[in-house]
Amino acid sequence: QASRLFHPENTIIRTKHSVVGDGSFTKIAGPDSIESPEHVLKMGQAVKEAGGTMLRGGSFKPRTNPYTFQGNGEVGLKAHRAAADKLGMDMVTEIMDTRDIELVDKYTDIFQVGTRNMQNFSLLKALGKLRKPVILKRGMSATIDDLLNASEYIAAGGNTQIMLMERGIRTFDNKYTRNTMDVSAIPVLKQLTHYPILADSSHAAGVSDLVTPIGISAVAAGADGLMTEIHDHPEKAFVDGKQALTPEQFKHLASLSDQIHELV
Ligand code: PEP
Repeated sequence: QASRLFHPENTIIRTKHSVVGDGSFTKIAGPDSIESPEHVLKMGQAVKEAGGTMLRGGSFKPRTNPYTFQGNGEVGLKAHRAAADKLGMDMVTEIMDTRDIELVDKYTDIFQVGTRNMQNFSLLKALGKLRKPVILKRGMSATIDDLLNASEYIAAGGNTQIMLMERGIRTFDNKYTRNTMDVSAIPVLKQLTHYPILADSSHAAGVSDLVTPIGISAVAAGADGLMTEIHDHPEKAFVDGKQALTPEQFKHLASLSDQIHELV
């Protein structure tokens, strides 16, 4: 169960290249979507150089508009896996549909469940049957209890390798930011649950200028790790270029995050 009442000690997630929840700070970054083998490798190199251990990127993209780019599917998964292996990093990718689990499981180290699927209970139950880590993102209109309850659908199947991720919620003011980073959810979740708590400041911000200040606020609030989107040519990104940091900007955020994490 998610509650600290049943499990007082922190859950520590150990993957091939990362340890999450042991007091260290984990950097997860990469492009929004996997564009090409060369591109994901280049972005992975930048993430690794800045101290990142997890390479993110979507090959099945949950787009608001069905007529936009939906991801490269298995071709993307293959390129992502090859880049992660070459660099010695963990692969993190989104799963949207139970029918894709077998395929994605062949490639990924960590499953990401996106905000739109936080309460896709059949998907969560299916992931509960696996023994692979899952990053469960908070639904954009979900309460903290909704998130914790959703995690139980994974844990009930026996898979307790769960990381929870705050990624911004819908509030009355979304004129200047895409979502509102609920920074307060981070220390609240740390009190309530033993699972590692991560934050994604790219989807909270929606615009690159705000990704760093919002990201470091999450670090200061006690997050165990931060997810960020990067792109070498944000204006040409297939998806969400507006919120992508350049590799240089990411390096700066990574270094600030390490310094702040030392203090908290
Ligand atoms: C993503 O991380 O690629 C993504 C789509 O995030 P979210 O589910 O938070 O919108």
